[in-house]
Amino acid sequence: MLFVVNKNAQLKSGEHIIHQENCHHKPKEKNIIGLGNFLNDEVALFEARRYFPCVNGCKYCCPKIHLKR
Ligand SMILES: [Zn+2]
Repeated sequence: MLFVVNKNAQLKSGEHIIHQENCHHKPKEKNIIGLGNFLNDEVALFEARRYFPCVNGCKYCCPKIHLKR
């Protein structure tokens, strides 16, 4: 599965949201960083933390790593 992370933090939470490449809620191409191809979303979460300290999974495409705050 291919994962991306939003370059821009969410206004309220300050989180950078992780999506799967095929998610309908994925931001525009210029606003994302490609994370790579991973077996599952937990690995994508780990990788995304190398870019941004505050990350969260999209509730639609990455429910396993989505943290409700
Ligand atoms: Zn998504």
